Amino acid sequence: MSDVLVTENIQGVSMNRLIQEHDVEFDAYLWQNTDLLKQKIQNTKALIVRNQTKVDRELIDAAPDLKIIARAGVGLDNVDTEYAHEKGIVVCFTPDANSLSVAELTIGLMLALMRKIPEARQDTLTGGWNRLKFTGSELYGKSFGLIGMGRIGSLTATRAKAFGMNILAADPFLKADAPQLKELNATLLSLDDLLAESDVVSCHSPLTPDTRKMLTYQHFRRMKPDAFFINTSRGEVVDERGLTQALLEHKLAGAALDVRETEPPKQSPLNQMENVILTPHIAAFTVEAQARVVDSVCEDVRLVLSG
Ligand code: NAD
Repeated sequence: MSDVLVTENIQGVSMNRLIQEHDVEFDAYLWQNTDLLKQKIQNTKALIVRNQTKVDRELIDAAPDLKIIARAGVGLDNVDTEYAHEKGIVVCFTPDANSLSVAELTIGLMLALMRKIPEARQDTLTGGWNRLKFTGSELYGKSFGLIGMGRIGSLTATRAKAFGMNILAADPFLKADAPQLKELNATLLSLDDLLAESDVVSCHSPLTPDTRKMLTYQHFRRMKPDAFFINTSRGEVVDERGLTQALLEHKLAGAALDVRETEPPKQSPLNQMENVILTPHIAAFTVEAQARVVDSVCEDVRLVLSG
């Protein structure tokens, strides 16, 4: 029974300092064992999680002393924030700490898709030297469609703009004259028009009841057959079966997914597709972003515990 409970792998200098200053229990895999977690949280004042721990009503009820839920990262879809607020528990997250890393991975995935880097590597490793087979496309002059133009969407769009791409955006909470659109000379479109007009579509919206399975087969079939889809937001925003079907029917040219409907994912036909890049939710995993994330959550916990 400790003051601070850490249920996922969250390490760093600031965490070591927090461990020296407070009674901290650290178990990187506790999120997998809900029963044990419910027992351990009974006298906890601060809970530190990433996105795997389901902080639902039941868990919150099991923690009558809880003062703060600190989410290391962005996206509060694993936390029942409404119920936490009802109970007077502070919920904090680290909105700016990893945005840049996610934006950079998104650009990396776009380049990897457009220049067929993973396929070319695989072929070369097995003795091939097929230069023409791996003819790709330039980013310059292409249309980059962003679903969600918040922090990460805007940072990604700024970087894509530097490659000479035209920026399109679909975001129901923005007006056409929003500053982030004006700065990038970006065009605000409906989701359907963005899908039809973009050469690369990248999703950066949060997971909410409205966005769950927001992108289905009906959406992917609207894309250009030579266009690519990238998701570094949340896997559940995409109906993976619909995306798979659209890829099998060549409705789009390929996809890169850092996030999946189920994590870790089950066996999937996507694993066998040469034009699909799959990464294990690593967008925020850079040395720099993790240091910022851990500094930020530890500081918030320290502030709340000191009253
Ligand atoms: P943000 O809140 O700054 O921006 C989200 C944007 O999406 C907002 O502009 C909002 O208006 C828009 N939006 C909401 N509903 C929409 C809809 N139905 N269609 C289109 N747009 C919609 O958030 P952010 O910091 O840019 O992060 C975006 C998401 O990225 C997070 O919610 C999180 O799920 C995900 N994320 C993933 C990783 C990773 O490791 N892969 C890391 C950090 C964040």
